[in-house]
Amino acid sequence: MASIFTRIVNGEIPATKIYEDAQTLAFLDVNPASRGHTLVICKQELPTLLDLPPDLLAAVGNSVQRVARAIMDALHPDGLNIVQNNGVASGQTVPHYHVHIIPRWEGDHALSHWKPGSITSEELRELAVTISSRIGGV
Ligand code: 5GP
Repeated sequence: MASIFTRIVNGEIPATKIYEDAQTLAFLDVNPASRGHTLVICKQELPTLLDLPPDLLAAVGNSVQRVARAIMDALHPDGLNIVQNNGVASGQTVPHYHVHIIPRWEGDHALSHWKPGSITSEELRELAVTISSRIGGV
């Protein structure tokens, strides 16, 4: 069965997209740890870091940097966390390789409040446009 992220890649379920190229896709996390929390995925469904060939790893890395720059430009956070979980024991809940970009503001305690229900669909759409316009849209 296809992962939830493959279903997003295939357009079967919606996502608030930030950036897309041939090998990668970036969209806002539906349960964000902070404002602008973005996932960058490898379009090909491979479970973890250990499964990616070097070219795909490089493609994701390039997209992470590109999107991170757009987030800095659009939202002006004080910093960014890059989080990447591999395996259930690490906290990985979607077995389809992805990198979290989590904007941080001084004193936000964002990683201790990473839980569902903190944002509306309309707020996600507005944020996606604000960030993706910095890299030419989707
Ligand atoms: P993991 O724990 O696997 O590293 O992270 C998976 C992330 O995917 C979680 O932060 C979760 O909120 C996010 N997520 C799960 N399902 C969906 C979805 O259908 N759409 C979006 N945009 N994010 C999702």
